[in-house]
Amino acid sequence: MSSDAVPDARSGRRFEAGELAKLARSFESERPESILRWAFEQFGSEQFALVSSFQAEAMVLIDMATRIQPDVRIMTIDTGRLPETTQELIDRVRDRYGVRVEILYPETRLVEAMTTQHGVNLFYREADLRKLCCHVRKVLPLGRALQSVAAWGTGLRRSQATTRANTPKVSLDENNGGIVKVCPLADWSWDDVWQYIRTHNVPHHLLYDQGYASIGCAPCTRPTQEGEDARSGRWWWEEATTHKECGLHLAGVKGSIDREVKTLMAGGEA
Ligand code: SF4
Repeated sequence: MSSDAVPDARSGRRFEAGELAKLARSFESERPESILRWAFEQFGSEQFALVSSFQAEAMVLIDMATRIQPDVRIMTIDTGRLPETTQELIDRVRDRYGVRVEILYPETRLVEAMTTQHGVNLFYREADLRKLCCHVRKVLPLGRALQSVAAWGTGLRRSQATTRANTPKVSLDENNGGIVKVCPLADWSWDDVWQYIRTHNVPHHLLYDQGYASIGCAPCTRPTQEGEDARSGRWWWEEATTHKECGLHLAGVKGSIDREVKTLMAGGEA
């Protein structure tokens, strides 16, 4: 099967990379709401899902999407290491918007093998183990869930990190079977996000009020100081040159980690 076609198990519109690149160029002048509306028209509410970490950008997308499509699918990954405040916000979102949030969990057998072999806080020991943890707890559960959709939406913004500087508003997600990835806020600034949140009284994660600028798992996130890069609070013990990404949005990093995961499943040394 060609990697740039939606797999047969999924329904919904198929797109080729060239067609999406053309669309991405035309979407540069479009508002996020228009891009979300396009996604719902193309894929419907069953084949398009928002994947949310309940950070500020995700909250903007949830607010916008529920105004357009009240039964929007919302997925989130419970890594098992989330802050309590993230769990609390998930419930607040369910109450406020009347939506069902699909919670994705990592595979128990893999988490058991990984932590037994490397320790529960393996991520502090070396970058490769941190990436393994992110892969087991985030990338694999999301990959499984995305097999049920033809497109997904995320709150990536270009100004969040150098790794995100070229984020198109729509693209082919080669890491997930060539489905369509939609990033309606790609060209928004941090100020744009918070202006929307204040204007529309959107619920926000309480850790922002404690100095956090980017929020992930509890042991891997800390507040940032004035003037520091927003992503510097994530995996802060790693070299600044290391990509501050968990792998959800990085293309081409899966091969070597997949091999480590297979070794873990086989009970050997990773
Ligand atoms: Fe593991 Fe930390 Fe990645 Fe969460 S952010 S999956 S705890 S390494």
